[in-house]
Amino acid sequence: MICLGIEGTAHTLGIGIVSEDGTVLANVREVFVPETGGIHPREAAEFHAKKISNLLARALKQSGQDLKNVGLIAFSQGPGLPPCLRGTAVLARSLALDLRLPLIGVNHCLAHVEIGRLVSGAKDPITLYVSGGNTLVAGHAEGRYRIFGETLDIPIGNMLDVFARKVGFGHPGGPKIEKLAAKSSTYLHLPYVVKGMDLSYSGLLTAAVNKFNGENLESLCFSLQEVAFSMLAEVTERALAHTEKKSILLTGGVAANHRLQEMLESIANDHGVSFHVVSRKLAGDNGAMIAWTGLRLFQHGITTPIEHSHVDSKWRLDDVEIPWRINEGESE
Ligand code: AMP
Ligand code: MG
Repeated sequence: MICLGIEGTAHTLGIGIVSEDGTVLANVREVFVPETGGIHPREAAEFHAKKISNLLARALKQSGQDLKNVGLIAFSQGPGLPPCLRGTAVLARSLALDLRLPLIGVNHCLAHVEIGRLVSGAKDPITLYVSGGNTLVAGHAEGRYRIFGETLDIPIGNMLDVFARKVGFGHPGGPKIEKLAAKSSTYLHLPYVVKGMDLSYSGLLTAAVNKFNGENLESLCFSLQEVAFSMLAEVTERALAHTEKKSILLTGGVAANHRLQEMLESIANDHGVSFHVVSRKLAGDNGAMIAWTGLRLFQHGITTPIEHSHVDSKWRLDDVEIPWRINEGESE
């Protein structure tokens, strides 16, 4: 059985084709980049609609499969930007009805965790999922991924992108900030906001933008990364110590950042646990993660009838029941 997965929660339209043993047969994507400003949800949805047929053809070509060999259609049902989610859902429903295939709606955050587990081999990690739209620390307990900490306001990737835009960089900002940060080690004071196990990034963003004077950009990028990533590291470390899990998994678009990887690796070393980062290809939003998670759910008897396939822009990871329970005591 092979599954075709469609990702379309925000900027990225992705199609992945994955087989039951976890082989990624195809993984292609188109990323909407606004000419100015942030992502306008409707414009992103229109971009997806324009790109979809060509992308589907590319995915099939890459996989060497025919559409008639596909046995399951999976799609990102939430969380995300409503116009993008709705467009993706319409496409997934049409394909499923047309091909008379079962349909399965997948939680986008769950898919990031599952593809990370698949490719890293980490069985039961504490996962730090950091992207343009999400910031959370999660770990499995009693049939669900429990969220130990999350942002109370904006996601870290969004914070980096908005800062970048305000100081004159294009989108996405994260890679540019990383490059400039590496050129400085001068720390400028910025607010560090961890509340219990949760994080807040909007005050840090405002403070960093207000500190910009046209000349201190390298030090500002360095300081912004140090503060923002230390906050993530603190919460991840506390979740690790509390759960006594044996591995840390870093996933999402911001996982590409070397300084963040270095901080988490050092925590993993301090605690004698393993550290895993999802490969770059599978770190950002992609269709393969949706296909793989769809397959796993389907293998456990779950499908989404058309009448229950409405999207949920605020669907939380900890609302999803995970039918594949990791055996208690299973060692890494
Ligand atoms: P995603 O939403 O998972 O597709 O990831 C996109 C986000 O990752 C954007 O906010 C980017 O700015 C961010 N990003 C990509 N590469 C890096 C990097 N090297 N350092 C920090 N953030 C990054
Ligand atoms: Mg994502």
